[in-house]
Amino acid sequence: MKTWPALALRFKSPVSPDAGSLEELLSATLDDFHPTAVQELDDRWLVFFTDQADRDRAAAALPAVAPGSLRVERLDVPDEDWARRSQEGLTAVQVGRIIIAPPWAAPGDARLTRDGSRTRPATIVIQPSMGFGTGHHASTRLCTALLQRLDLVGRTVLDVGTGSGVLALVAHALGAKTVIGVDDDPDALESARENLVLNGVTSGIDLRQGDFRGLSVQRADVVTANLTGGLLARGADILASAVAPGGSLIISGVLLDEEAEVLAAFGPRLQIVEHVTEDDWMGGRLTAPTLPTRTAAR
Ligand code: SAH
Repeated sequence: MKTWPALALRFKSPVSPDAGSLEELLSATLDDFHPTAVQELDDRWLVFFTDQADRDRAAAALPAVAPGSLRVERLDVPDEDWARRSQEGLTAVQVGRIIIAPPWAAPGDARLTRDGSRTRPATIVIQPSMGFGTGHHASTRLCTALLQRLDLVGRTVLDVGTGSGVLALVAHALGAKTVIGVDDDPDALESARENLVLNGVTSGIDLRQGDFRGLSVQRADVVTANLTGGLLARGADILASAVAPGGSLIISGVLLDEEAEVLAAFGPRLQIVEHVTEDDWMGGRLTAPTLPTRTAAR
């Protein structure tokens, strides 16, 4: 598992005649080393960095700020814990009849229901961690909205770049027969697995690790790909090939000013039929032509 470089700063008591100015001095010194966050706990400060070299330089510089009254310890904090702590303020998000909620904001009786009800909201619980997709990014919401406009009951779905597994779970909740979620980031897949368990899903969603450009999967009725404009454009042929005749591809992660280029890449194979936007992001549904009907043999 990835770790974040961090420092634990412990103050020996008595700290100094003037603890307030020591804290200010520490904060000012830390600023030179680009900390990403400082957590002030009762007995220590935890200071997080993205870069280990910054952390090490800060560890070398800090003792001089308060000679004799500060203990500096280097730590490597597991990624997930840090991500969780930093996201504890997240709340539930509703898109149409789908609610995406972190465990602490999910209704007590939240269970993913697949009763085909088109009116009752379905709650999907997502544990915020390193898998992208808590519902707090516009691109996830755009895909969630577009998925609800389709009748997924009995359909096959391929979720490319599944991240937290959120869109796979949305498709499952909307009645998809089978969903395959693909991601090349093992941490993302680990969080997706955790989210399947949290939602009580034991079958119907299959997770696979790998770059979608090298995986061989069966064509699906609906393919979701919330990636980036560049990746969609470069992978357009492969994504288009993954859509069954007459099926749909839902894309997002595309900035409005990238849209023309992305659609041009799909142009020869898929046609845009729906277009939604939020802030600077667009989401779209493209369709593949149905198979030409055969002329009956005489
Ligand atoms: N589907 C989720 C997450 C989207 S973030 C949502 O809608 O919120 C995009 C995801 O695509 C990330 O988890 C990233 O690891 C994955 N990804 C990026 N490039 C990929 C590739 N070439 N093959 C497979 N997955 C990829």
